[in-house]
Amino acid sequence: MRLTLSTIKKLPIFLNKYIKNDGKLLYNRDMVQAKLVQLKDIMYEVLPGFLPAQAICDSVQEVNQDVNSTTVSNYYRVIRESVPQSWRLAIETSTKQSESGSFPALKFGHGADMKDFGVIMCKQIYERFVVKVAQKPASLPYWCRIYPTLDEKEKWKIKGNSKEADDHDFRLRHKILTNAILHQLDRRVGRECDVCGLETENLVHMYVKCTKLCGFFKMLKCCLIKKLGLVWNNRDSWEIFVLFGVWKESRVKNTELCRFLLSHARWAIKSRHNIAHFENKLVPVWPIFKSMVQSQTKYRMICGNVGIKKLFSRDSSLFSYQQGGGDCLALVTGLFRFF
Ligand SMILES: [Zn+2]
Repeated sequence: MRLTLSTIKKLPIFLNKYIKNDGKLLYNRDMVQAKLVQLKDIMYEVLPGFLPAQAICDSVQEVNQDVNSTTVSNYYRVIRESVPQSWRLAIETSTKQSESGSFPALKFGHGADMKDFGVIMCKQIYERFVVKVAQKPASLPYWCRIYPTLDEKEKWKIKGNSKEADDHDFRLRHKILTNAILHQLDRRVGRECDVCGLETENLVHMYVKCTKLCGFFKMLKCCLIKKLGLVWNNRDSWEIFVLFGVWKESRVKNTELCRFLLSHARWAIKSRHNIAHFENKLVPVWPIFKSMVQSQTKYRMICGNVGIKKLFSRDSSLFSYQQGGGDCLALVTGLFRFF
């Protein structure tokens, strides 16, 4: 029977009336379990010929380690000898393994902007994916419902931010379990805020409305006004400011540094909350915030992070230098000098 190589490749090895040994149909449970069932499964993909016995043994033993290699090799030899001679010849000699034709010329873009795929940068593909495929996060409509004046096009990414603060911001904006949610899951957990114990603890309460944050916010606002020249207008929403960083109406000398500090303020608020929740201890937020900003900034300055240097380089009064072994370590002291 004359068959093309592409047809031969698709034929079953076992229970095939054309592949017999001493007049008997072949069947090997171990090879079937290893998904070696069609002739293409025991052939090279590009080169002509059958795979070596070791490759078949490896495939079978990946599924069942107890199978003996010699047994597999012997059965594999029987299979090869049982394949009709004309098929075996086609498998072992044909160099035309790929019958799918030449690879199509790939293009990217549309209309006059169509370009060869080879000259496209990875960034352009991602940009197109973001526009065409990526979905908006579900958290966006949630926050826009709570704060209708929030601009959903506002960029939430903060340049030079520390990874921990960035990670915390991501979780805050997408989902953090509050007592209000935990109470729904387990009635033994009270709805009340772990810190003040007065109101139901939801995200807005945890991060901005809790009465135990008043002192911290007073110092934070004072720090930003004095050190970053923040011009605060009472019409501005403190809640949006704290939760989402500087927005278009805000007026501040160093916007990126302000965003950086607010991101760490949120992380500090959560850290204080965690101490209250897990250790049942009430501690002030300011020392946590100060320590976080100082350690994160110092560490990243030492590591030579360019982003963080840019954040502070616009206002040299915010930090001082300390010479040490030729290295210039910057300590954020000016920022907290009066607190
Ligand atoms: Zn509270």
